[in-house]
Amino acid sequence: MKAVVCKEARLSVAERPDPVPGKGQVLLKVLRCGICGSDLHARQHCDHWSSLMERTGFHGFMRSDQEIVFGHEFCGEVIDHGPATKRKFKPGRHVCALPVLRNGNGIELIGLSPRAAGAYAERIVVEESMMMPVPNGLPPDFAALAEPMAVAWHAVRRGEVKKRDVAIVVGCGPVGLGVICVLKAMGVATVVASDFSTTRRDLAKRCGADVVIDPAAVSPFASWKDYGFIGELTGGLSLLLDTREKLGQLPVPWWHAWRLADTLGLAPKRPIVFECVGAPGVLQHIIEGAPLLSRIVVVGVCMKTDQIEPAVAINKEIDLRFVLAYTPLEYRDALHAIADGKLHCAPLVTGTVGLAGVDAAFTALGNPEQHAKILIDPASRAVLPH
Ligand SMILES: [Zn+2]
Repeated sequence: MKAVVCKEARLSVAERPDPVPGKGQVLLKVLRCGICGSDLHARQHCDHWSSLMERTGFHGFMRSDQEIVFGHEFCGEVIDHGPATKRKFKPGRHVCALPVLRNGNGIELIGLSPRAAGAYAERIVVEESMMMPVPNGLPPDFAALAEPMAVAWHAVRRGEVKKRDVAIVVGCGPVGLGVICVLKAMGVATVVASDFSTTRRDLAKRCGADVVIDPAAVSPFASWKDYGFIGELTGGLSLLLDTREKLGQLPVPWWHAWRLADTLGLAPKRPIVFECVGAPGVLQHIIEGAPLLSRIVVVGVCMKTDQIEPAVAINKEIDLRFVLAYTPLEYRDALHAIADGKLHCAPLVTGTVGLAGVDAAFTALGNPEQHAKILIDPASRAVLPH
């Protein structure tokens, strides 16, 4: 079969032996596969990434001198079953699958391991238990977005965003755009999106952002007064004094009233900020700008050492959360939300290429003014127009 192989940061189309499904595994014909920002990063910096993974106790990550077939955002068609499979989904069925594979006692990340080739290829092996049928005859172009949407789904769930909350999305690359789509799918009333790129601001609008901001002109946190947030520490302190004084005028002891308010969950308003850039300095920038009590969800993956000033975050009692991947349930929910027409993520896709067009697609994705998500269709000969 044909596949795009990455070795020493070079991408080329090569003939590879057909993969054979092992115990509990299924062979798929790849219909579509998204090119992920992490593929772009892994191509250039996988040795550093690999050592980061080892420090968190994962040892099977790719190295630059190995032959790697990328691709973890895919949907495919069932071709064949390996031994000890349940065979619930017959050949011809369209499925998605979480990109993890059992390997003896170990686990491999599909598309980021030399022992688990990804979907930049005509065929791929997946774990049967990680497979889910594509519902409602959803076309492969949309089904392939289930994986990146699951990432966004998990991030928004970890943010515990309520419908009446204000969510601020900093960075409108594929990750930020996914978060915007999911926030709107979950009915969050006010989504503010911020990006330096005109193209990406435009995409953010098409993904459903209510307010779109060019941070070169205005801070995404400039409207804190309009949203009823506490922008300054003095404001926080006067709220404490005011509240105490007001409760002192009630006929009940003030501490009973205060405790009741606590129990009812009455608290000052604060935004949930999604950091979707993943570059050094961004986190500190958000901490500086964000109102008091803001919850920051870190989705963008910064792989360099970064600096924050904890005292600024402490003065604002900033809540900082990091997120990784998703659960099988979140993956399924994202897939079904797309198929049910609740999660509108079509604007994300800005191009489709065949295997021969992957190298140029990687180059194009490096420019935020050109593309967001490019899909690979292994059956196509398409390349990006010049
Ligand atoms: Zn990805």
